[in-house]
Amino acid sequence: MGSIMVAGGAGYIGSHCLWLLRQRGHDAFAFDNLAEGHCQAVLDADLVEGSLSDFDLVKRTLKERDVEAVFHFAASCYVGVSVTDPSSYYENNVATTLKLLDAMRAADVGTFIFSSTCATYGNPVQQYMDEQHPQWPINPYGWTKFMVERILSDYRAAYGMKYVCLRYFNAAGAHPEGIIGEHHDPETHLIPLVIHAAQGKRENIKVFGDDYDTPDGTCIRDYIHILDLSEAHILGLEHLNQGGESAAFNLGNGAGYSVMEVIKMVEKVVGKPINVEVVGRRAGDPARLVGNSACAQEVLGWKQNYGDLETIIETAWRWHEEHSEGF
Ligand code: UDP
Repeated sequence: MGSIMVAGGAGYIGSHCLWLLRQRGHDAFAFDNLAEGHCQAVLDADLVEGSLSDFDLVKRTLKERDVEAVFHFAASCYVGVSVTDPSSYYENNVATTLKLLDAMRAADVGTFIFSSTCATYGNPVQQYMDEQHPQWPINPYGWTKFMVERILSDYRAAYGMKYVCLRYFNAAGAHPEGIIGEHHDPETHLIPLVIHAAQGKRENIKVFGDDYDTPDGTCIRDYIHILDLSEAHILGLEHLNQGGESAAFNLGNGAGYSVMEVIKMVEKVVGKPINVEVVGRRAGDPARLVGNSACAQEVLGWKQNYGDLETIIETAWRWHEEHSEGF
Protein backbone atom coordinates (compact mmCIF):
# COMPACT_ATOMS: atom_id res chain seq x y z
CA MET A 1 0.00 0.00 0.00
CA GLY A 2 1.40 3.38 -1.00
CA SER A 3 1.03 6.68 0.77
CA ILE A 4 -1.66 9.35 0.50
CA MET A 5 -0.90 12.94 -0.43
CA VAL A 6 -3.30 15.42 1.15
CA ALA A 7 -3.11 18.55 -0.99
CA GLY A 8 -4.18 21.45 1.20
CA GLY A 9 -3.48 19.30 4.25
CA ALA A 10 -2.66 22.35 6.38
CA GLY A 11 -6.11 23.87 5.85
CA TYR A 12 -9.29 23.44 7.85
CA ILE A 13 -10.83 20.42 6.14
CA GLY A 14 -7.56 18.95 4.86
CA SER A 15 -5.94 18.89 8.30
CA HIS A 16 -8.87 17.03 9.85
CA CYS A 17 -8.86 14.49 7.04
CA LEU A 18 -5.08 14.11 7.32
CA TRP A 19 -5.44 13.45 11.06
CA LEU A 20 -8.17 10.85 10.49
CA LEU A 21 -6.22 9.09 7.73
CA ARG A 22 -3.22 8.72 10.01
CA GLN A 23 -5.45 7.64 12.87
CA ARG A 24 -6.64 4.84 10.59
CA GLY A 25 -3.09 3.72 9.92
CA HIS A 26 -2.60 5.32 6.50
CA ASP A 27 0.79 6.73 5.60
CA ALA A 28 -0.48 10.23 4.79
CA PHE A 29 1.34 13.55 4.43
CA ALA A 30 0.40 17.12 3.61
CA PHE A 31 1.32 19.12 0.52
CA ASP A 32 0.54 22.79 1.07
CA ASN A 33 1.82 26.22 0.06
CA LEU A 34 0.75 27.62 3.46
CA ALA A 35 -0.97 30.55 1.73
CA GLU A 36 -4.10 29.89 3.78
CA GLY A 37 -3.10 26.83 5.78
CA HIS A 38 -1.16 26.62 9.04
CA CYS A 39 1.88 24.40 9.45
CA GLN A 40 0.78 23.59 13.04
CA ALA A 41 -2.42 22.03 11.67
CA VAL A 42 -0.59 19.01 10.24
CA LEU A 43 0.49 18.05 13.80
CA ASP A 44 3.30 15.48 13.47
CA ALA A 45 2.59 14.50 9.85
CA ASP A 46 5.12 15.36 7.15
CA LEU A 47 4.52 18.59 5.29
CA VAL A 48 5.85 19.19 1.79
CA GLU A 49 5.75 22.94 1.32
CA GLY A 50 5.31 23.98 -2.29
CA SER A 51 2.98 24.90 -5.08
CA LEU A 52 0.69 22.36 -6.73
CA SER A 53 1.38 24.14 -10.00
CA ASP A 54 5.06 23.16 -9.69
CA PHE A 55 4.72 20.13 -11.98
CA ASP A 56 8.23 18.79 -11.35
CA LEU A 57 7.99 19.06 -7.57
CA VAL A 58 4.56 17.42 -7.50
CA LYS A 59 5.61 14.60 -9.83
CA ARG A 60 8.79 13.99 -7.88
CA THR A 61 6.90 14.01 -4.56
CA LEU A 62 4.33 11.54 -5.88
CA LYS A 63 7.04 9.19 -7.10
CA GLU A 64 9.46 9.47 -4.19
CA ARG A 65 6.72 8.96 -1.63
CA ASP A 66 5.08 6.13 -3.53
CA VAL A 67 1.71 7.90 -3.51
CA GLU A 68 -1.33 5.75 -4.34
CA ALA A 69 -4.02 8.44 -4.03
CA VAL A 70 -4.35 12.21 -3.79
CA PHE A 71 -6.94 13.92 -1.59
CA HIS A 72 -7.36 17.44 -2.93
CA PHE A 73 -8.51 20.21 -0.58
CA ALA A 74 -6.28 23.04 -1.76
CA ALA A 75 -8.48 25.80 -3.14
CA SER A 76 -9.49 29.40 -2.67
CA CYS A 77 -12.86 29.36 -0.94
CA TYR A 78 -14.28 32.87 -0.50
CA VAL A 79 -17.39 33.16 -2.64
CA GLY A 80 -17.35 36.98 -2.49
CA VAL A 81 -13.72 37.29 -3.59
CA SER A 82 -14.37 34.88 -6.45
CA VAL A 83 -16.89 37.41 -7.78
CA THR A 84 -14.50 40.39 -7.61
CA ASP A 85 -11.32 38.47 -8.56
CA PRO A 86 -12.39 35.52 -10.73
CA SER A 87 -8.95 35.35 -12.38
CA SER A 88 -7.19 34.14 -9.23
CA TYR A 89 -10.02 31.65 -8.55
CA TYR A 90 -9.88 30.06 -11.99
CA GLU A 91 -6.09 30.03 -11.76
CA ASN A 92 -5.88 28.57 -8.29
CA ASN A 93 -8.83 26.19 -8.35
CA VAL A 94 -8.94 25.07 -11.98
CA ALA A 95 -5.56 25.64 -13.68
CA THR A 96 -3.61 24.43 -10.65
CA THR A 97 -5.81 21.36 -10.27
CA LEU A 98 -5.22 20.56 -13.94
CA LYS A 99 -1.46 20.72 -13.31
CA LEU A 100 -1.86 18.44 -10.31
CA LEU A 101 -3.88 15.92 -12.32
CA ASP A 102 -1.29 15.92 -15.09
CA ALA A 103 1.53 15.44 -12.58
CA MET A 104 -0.48 12.48 -11.24
CA ARG A 105 -0.75 11.02 -14.75
CA ALA A 106 2.99 11.48 -15.24
CA ALA A 107 3.65 9.69 -11.94
CA ASP A 108 1.08 6.95 -12.59
CA VAL A 109 -1.16 7.89 -9.68
CA GLY A 110 -4.73 7.15 -10.69
CA THR A 111 -6.94 7.82 -7.66
CA PHE A 112 -8.30 11.24 -6.74
CA ILE A 113 -10.60 12.31 -3.89
CA PHE A 114 -11.92 15.78 -4.57
CA SER A 115 -13.30 18.41 -2.23
CA SER A 116 -16.29 19.75 -4.12
CA THR A 117 -19.26 21.74 -2.94
CA CYS A 118 -23.01 22.17 -3.01
CA ALA A 119 -22.19 25.54 -4.61
CA THR A 120 -21.92 23.56 -7.87
CA TYR A 121 -25.75 23.29 -7.80
CA GLY A 122 -26.55 26.99 -7.69
CA ASN A 123 -30.05 28.03 -6.69
CA PRO A 124 -32.03 25.09 -5.28
CA VAL A 125 -34.97 23.81 -7.31
CA GLN A 126 -35.86 21.08 -4.81
CA GLN A 127 -36.14 20.97 -1.00
CA TYR A 128 -33.58 18.29 -0.28
CA MET A 129 -30.96 18.57 -2.99
CA ASP A 130 -29.67 15.24 -4.27
CA GLU A 131 -26.86 14.54 -6.74
CA GLN A 132 -29.24 14.74 -9.70
CA HIS A 133 -30.09 18.34 -8.92
CA PRO A 134 -29.13 20.53 -11.92
CA GLN A 135 -25.65 22.05 -11.65
CA TRP A 136 -25.66 25.71 -12.59
CA PRO A 137 -23.48 27.64 -10.14
CA ILE A 138 -24.27 31.27 -9.28
CA ASN A 139 -20.72 32.46 -8.58
CA PRO A 140 -17.20 31.84 -9.94
CA TYR A 141 -16.23 29.78 -6.89
CA GLY A 142 -19.00 27.29 -7.68
CA TRP A 143 -17.99 27.25 -11.35
CA THR A 144 -14.37 26.45 -10.50
CA LYS A 145 -15.44 23.38 -8.54
CA PHE A 146 -17.94 22.40 -11.21
CA MET A 147 -15.24 22.64 -13.90
CA VAL A 148 -12.95 20.33 -11.95
CA GLU A 149 -15.81 17.83 -11.68
CA ARG A 150 -16.18 17.97 -15.48
CA ILE A 151 -12.43 17.59 -15.98
CA LEU A 152 -12.44 14.54 -13.73
CA SER A 153 -15.21 12.93 -15.71
CA ASP A 154 -13.23 13.45 -18.93
CA TYR A 155 -10.00 12.21 -17.33
CA ARG A 156 -11.84 9.13 -16.17
CA ALA A 157 -13.06 8.41 -19.70
CA ALA A 158 -9.77 9.16 -21.46
CA TYR A 159 -7.08 8.17 -18.95
CA GLY A 160 -8.89 5.86 -16.54
CA MET A 161 -8.39 8.18 -13.57
CA LYS A 162 -10.66 7.10 -10.74
CA TYR A 163 -12.28 9.77 -8.61
CA VAL A 164 -14.79 10.56 -5.93
CA CYS A 165 -16.16 14.11 -5.68
CA LEU A 166 -17.63 15.07 -2.34
CA ARG A 167 -20.07 17.94 -2.49
CA TYR A 168 -20.14 19.50 0.95
CA PHE A 169 -22.87 21.54 2.44
CA ASN A 170 -21.63 23.66 5.42
CA ALA A 171 -18.48 22.18 6.97
CA ALA A 172 -18.35 23.05 10.66
CA GLY A 173 -17.03 21.98 14.07
CA ALA A 174 -13.56 20.86 15.08
CA HIS A 175 -11.56 17.92 16.34
CA PRO A 176 -13.36 16.77 19.54
CA GLU A 177 -10.23 17.18 21.69
CA GLY A 178 -9.67 20.66 20.31
CA ILE A 179 -6.21 19.94 18.88
CA ILE A 180 -7.07 21.31 15.42
CA GLY A 181 -9.91 23.53 14.27
CA GLU A 182 -11.11 26.29 12.01
CA HIS A 183 -8.86 29.31 11.55
CA HIS A 184 -9.60 31.47 8.52
CA ASP A 185 -8.31 34.94 7.98
CA PRO A 186 -10.59 36.74 7.35
CA GLU A 187 -13.32 34.63 8.93
CA THR A 188 -16.65 34.81 7.10
CA HIS A 189 -18.47 31.68 8.29
CA LEU A 190 -21.41 31.86 10.63
CA ILE A 191 -20.44 29.48 13.45
CA PRO A 192 -16.93 30.85 14.13
CA LEU A 193 -18.26 34.41 13.90
CA VAL A 194 -21.02 33.71 16.44
CA ILE A 195 -18.36 32.17 18.70
CA HIS A 196 -16.17 35.27 18.27
CA ALA A 197 -19.17 37.36 19.34
CA ALA A 198 -19.63 35.13 22.41
CA GLN A 199 -15.94 35.56 23.23
CA GLY A 200 -16.23 39.35 22.99
CA LYS A 201 -13.85 39.43 20.01
CA ARG A 202 -16.54 41.23 18.04
CA GLU A 203 -19.33 43.44 19.23
CA ASN A 204 -22.16 41.34 17.82
CA ILE A 205 -23.19 38.88 15.16
CA LYS A 206 -24.81 40.40 12.12
CA VAL A 207 -27.70 38.34 10.79
CA PHE A 208 -27.92 38.72 7.03
CA GLY A 209 -31.67 39.12 6.62
CA ASP A 210 -34.64 37.96 8.68
CA ASP A 211 -37.26 38.33 5.97
CA TYR A 212 -36.68 35.03 4.13
CA ASP A 213 -39.49 32.57 3.54
CA THR A 214 -38.43 30.30 6.42
CA PRO A 215 -40.09 29.70 9.83
CA ASP A 216 -38.04 32.36 11.66
CA GLY A 217 -37.18 34.42 8.57
CA THR A 218 -33.43 33.63 8.64
CA CYS A 219 -31.57 31.42 6.16
CA ILE A 220 -31.44 27.68 6.66
CA ARG A 221 -28.20 25.77 6.03
CA ASP A 222 -27.07 22.18 6.43
CA TYR A 223 -24.14 22.04 8.89
CA ILE A 224 -21.98 18.96 8.81
CA HIS A 225 -19.21 18.01 11.23
CA ILE A 226 -15.69 18.13 9.88
CA LEU A 227 -14.82 14.62 11.08
CA ASP A 228 -17.96 13.18 9.49
CA LEU A 229 -16.83 14.87 6.27
CA SER A 230 -13.34 13.44 6.67
CA GLU A 231 -14.73 9.97 7.24
CA ALA A 232 -16.58 10.12 3.92
CA HIS A 233 -13.31 10.85 2.07
CA ILE A 234 -11.73 7.72 3.49
CA LEU A 235 -14.82 5.70 2.57
CA GLY A 236 -14.58 7.20 -0.92
CA LEU A 237 -11.03 5.86 -1.23
CA GLU A 238 -12.09 2.42 -0.01
CA HIS A 239 -14.99 2.47 -2.47
CA LEU A 240 -12.61 3.07 -5.40
CA ASN A 241 -10.08 0.54 -4.09
CA GLN A 242 -12.82 -2.07 -3.99
CA GLY A 243 -13.64 -1.42 -7.64
CA GLY A 244 -16.51 1.03 -7.06
CA GLU A 245 -17.53 3.48 -9.79
CA SER A 246 -16.17 7.01 -9.89
CA ALA A 247 -18.96 9.31 -8.72
CA ALA A 248 -20.03 12.43 -6.86
CA PHE A 249 -21.70 12.31 -3.44
CA ASN A 250 -23.42 14.93 -1.33
CA LEU A 251 -22.27 15.33 2.24
CA GLY A 252 -24.78 17.04 4.44
CA ASN A 253 -26.62 16.49 7.63
CA GLY A 254 -30.03 16.40 6.03
CA ALA A 255 -31.22 18.61 8.89
CA GLY A 256 -31.27 22.30 8.17
CA TYR A 257 -30.77 24.91 10.88
CA SER A 258 -31.60 28.59 10.63
CA VAL A 259 -29.11 31.33 11.44
CA MET A 260 -31.14 32.12 14.58
CA GLU A 261 -31.13 28.45 15.64
CA VAL A 262 -27.34 28.42 15.33
CA ILE A 263 -27.05 31.55 17.45
CA LYS A 264 -29.39 30.09 20.10
CA MET A 265 -27.37 26.89 20.19
CA VAL A 266 -24.12 28.81 20.69
CA GLU A 267 -25.81 30.71 23.54
CA LYS A 268 -26.80 27.38 25.09
CA VAL A 269 -23.34 25.82 24.73
CA VAL A 270 -21.51 28.91 25.96
CA GLY A 271 -24.07 29.78 28.61
CA LYS A 272 -24.45 33.47 27.87
CA PRO A 273 -26.47 35.76 25.60
CA ILE A 274 -25.01 37.03 22.33
CA ASN A 275 -25.64 40.46 20.81
CA VAL A 276 -27.47 40.09 17.52
CA GLU A 277 -27.94 42.77 14.89
CA VAL A 278 -30.20 42.07 11.93
CA VAL A 279 -28.83 43.67 8.77
CA GLY A 280 -29.71 43.38 5.08
CA ARG A 281 -29.51 40.20 3.05
CA ARG A 282 -26.12 39.09 1.68
CA ALA A 283 -26.11 38.94 -2.11
CA GLY A 284 -26.49 35.46 -3.54
CA ASP A 285 -27.83 33.75 -0.39
CA PRO A 286 -30.68 31.29 -1.12
CA ALA A 287 -33.23 30.97 1.71
CA ARG A 288 -32.64 27.27 2.20
CA LEU A 289 -29.84 24.84 1.26
CA VAL A 290 -30.25 21.34 2.61
CA GLY A 291 -28.73 18.23 1.12
CA ASN A 292 -29.91 14.69 0.61
CA SER A 293 -26.93 12.45 1.40
CA ALA A 294 -28.70 9.10 0.97
CA CYS A 295 -26.34 8.17 -1.83
CA ALA A 296 -23.22 8.49 0.38
CA GLN A 297 -24.99 6.40 3.01
CA GLU A 298 -26.05 3.68 0.60
CA VAL A 299 -23.02 3.48 -1.68
CA LEU A 300 -20.19 4.42 0.68
CA GLY A 301 -21.77 3.14 3.89
CA TRP A 302 -21.30 6.61 5.38
CA LYS A 303 -22.95 7.57 8.65
CA GLN A 304 -22.56 10.53 10.90
CA ASN A 305 -21.06 10.30 14.36
CA TYR A 306 -21.04 14.00 15.24
CA GLY A 307 -24.19 15.03 13.41
CA ASP A 308 -26.24 17.08 15.85
CA LEU A 309 -25.83 20.84 15.95
CA GLU A 310 -24.97 20.84 19.65
CA THR A 311 -21.95 18.55 19.12
CA ILE A 312 -20.84 20.58 16.12
CA ILE A 313 -20.93 23.76 18.18
CA GLU A 314 -19.43 22.22 21.33
CA THR A 315 -16.39 21.00 19.38
CA ALA A 316 -16.02 24.36 17.61
CA TRP A 317 -16.33 26.17 20.94
CA ARG A 318 -13.65 24.00 22.58
CA TRP A 319 -11.21 24.75 19.78
CA HIS A 320 -11.87 28.49 19.91
CA GLU A 321 -11.64 28.59 23.71
CA GLU A 322 -8.33 26.73 23.78
CA HIS A 323 -6.86 28.58 20.79
CA SER A 324 -8.24 32.07 21.14
CA GLU A 325 -5.63 33.36 18.65
CA GLY A 326 -6.03 30.40 16.31
CA PHE A 327 -2.93 28.38 15.48
N1 UDP B 1 -24.49 34.53 7.97
C1 UDP B 1 -24.96 35.58 8.76
N2 UDP B 1 -24.02 36.40 9.34
C2 UDP B 1 -22.68 36.23 9.18
C3 UDP B 1 -22.23 35.13 8.38
C4 UDP B 1 -23.17 34.30 7.79
O1 UDP B 1 -26.15 35.79 8.92
O2 UDP B 1 -21.89 37.01 9.71
C5 UDP B 1 -25.48 33.62 7.35
C6 UDP B 1 -25.38 33.54 5.83
O3 UDP B 1 -26.18 34.54 5.24
C7 UDP B 1 -25.89 32.12 5.55
C8 UDP B 1 -25.49 31.34 6.81
O4 UDP B 1 -25.22 32.32 7.82
O5 UDP B 1 -27.29 32.13 5.48
C9 UDP B 1 -24.25 30.50 6.60
O6 UDP B 1 -23.25 31.32 6.03
P1 UDP B 1 -21.74 30.85 5.87
O7 UDP B 1 -20.99 32.02 5.29
O8 UDP B 1 -21.25 30.29 7.16
O9 UDP B 1 -21.80 29.64 4.84
P2 UDP B 1 -22.41 29.56 3.35
O10 UDP B 1 -23.77 28.93 3.52
O11 UDP B 1 -22.46 30.93 2.79
O12 UDP B 1 -21.47 28.65 2.65
